[in-house]
Amino acid sequence: MLSGYRLEVIVGCMSAGKSSELIRRIERARLAYLPTIIVRPTTDTRSKPNYVESRNGLASQALVVPDAKEILKYSSHAVVIGIDEAQFFNTDLIPVVQTLLRQKKKLIVSGLDLDYKGDPFGPVPLLMAMADRVDKLLAVCRKCGSDFACRTQRLVQSDEQILVGDAQYEARCIHCFEPPGEYQLRLELPLAETNPPHLAVIQGMVAGTVAS
Ligand SMILES: [Zn+2]
Repeated sequence: MLSGYRLEVIVGCMSAGKSSELIRRIERARLAYLPTIIVRPTTDTRSKPNYVESRNGLASQALVVPDAKEILKYSSHAVVIGIDEAQFFNTDLIPVVQTLLRQKKKLIVSGLDLDYKGDPFGPVPLLMAMADRVDKLLAVCRKCGSDFACRTQRLVQSDEQILVGDAQYEARCIHCFEPPGEYQLRLELPLAETNPPHLAVIQGMVAGTVAS
């Protein structure tokens, strides 16, 4: 019988070390001889295929799945399941997590808690409510250098909630964060590149399930 936390959620803005912390915890489970898997959504195109990578160079093998229900196809033999970039799954992730918890699995989930507007992002806030452990990691603010960055500032013009790419964002503290409306009015920001077609489908799913 697995002891300890059952649903751990690691949140924060970009560059806060979420994926690195997820990989660290999964590695510890592996050291304890527990069968593990890590899954991430297809939407995240930044990591190498079939890997989850952190910005500080850690990497671990991962299953890339197009939607949350697909996780159940791969989870039967795993005892500990890591889910990275959870914000890119829609709210279908919630019943999947509930199913896995009923099956006595341990889940470690990481993701952005807030989108570029500073609004709750996809299923992550719900998972935070369901979790028995939540860690909110902070990054270094790229504007003032403080250690308290908790917002993801978008640096390009786009109204899409999901726009994948590290160069288009920076971590900001709550004092330096400029909501996109005000920010875009004051600065001439470059237009975001057109999204790859598969993202449009996922955006439609998110728009349909996340009221904003
Ligand atoms: Zn700041």
